[in-house]
Amino acid sequence: MSEGILYLVATPIGNLEDMTFRAVKILRGVDLIAAEDTRHTRKLLTHFEIHTPLVRYDEFSKVQSGKKILQELLSGKNVACVSDAGLPAISDPGADLAKLAIENKIQVCPIPGANAALSALICSGLDTTKFFFAGFLPKSAKSRKDFLEKISVREETLIFYESPHRLKKFLAELKEIFGDRNISIARELTKVHEEFLRGKISELENIFDEPKGEFVIVVEGNLNSETNFEIVGAENFLDCYKNLIAEGIDKKSAIRQTTKKFNLSRREVYNAVVELEKK
Ligand code: SAM
Repeated sequence: MSEGILYLVATPIGNLEDMTFRAVKILRGVDLIAAEDTRHTRKLLTHFEIHTPLVRYDEFSKVQSGKKILQELLSGKNVACVSDAGLPAISDPGADLAKLAIENKIQVCPIPGANAALSALICSGLDTTKFFFAGFLPKSAKSRKDFLEKISVREETLIFYESPHRLKKFLAELKEIFGDRNISIARELTKVHEEFLRGKISELENIFDEPKGEFVIVVEGNLNSETNFEIVGAENFLDCYKNLIAEGIDKKSAIRQTTKKFNLSRREVYNAVVELEKK
């Protein structure tokens, strides 16, 4: 008996009309649908008159559920994996299931469709030729800072997912570490209240009193080669510090970033900055 196929099926990120014909056909035709939230997916399936059995596959159940789904695939059943919205495996469950299937020589097939990151990028007005998908930031304050500092030198446009209740904090962190760059905030993509807010971080950070809805933040890459540490010599660390300050990055963060990138001691950079300020 030959094995089944695992389909990774995109579902709408708001507007049900973004469901593709192929997605409906595949979801009707497979033996089983692995869904992040079965109650949520059942509503979608009801809308499109899809009667295929559902099984839960999410962060909490993925190990046990993954084993069962693999058995189904190995026994010749076709399985579709969906998340609550958009492409499975993009900041959503699905990647581990795809990996498990591939390790077991199961064919994995994409059924493309809606995705929040790319929809936000194409309407951002920022460079779309090269981009870096950062997704959600880590939760702890230190890991967030470390991650932002690490990627602040990247020249590509950067794409972030953020929850509404952390949006303001995120924009403040971004301004502190990246400087006052151009950004585009995409809110409620494909939904009735879809909007795009474009401008400097300082112009947009307080635009929402209480941010509501779903957000993607697209950020201009580091266009200043002077602060792109990969190509600046260590002897220029003070120039880099000065450039960071000129870009609007706050003093503490500029010292921390210089320290890290040039592998110097904090004291060394701090003392040099004190001397610089005396001049
Ligand atoms: N798999 C999804 C995709 O392909 O885009 C992403 C799922 S991730 C768990 C959810 C995050 O995606 C939200 O917090 C938000 O940042 C972004 N997102 C999803 N739908 C959105 C929408 N309609 N408008 C804006 N952002 C959205």
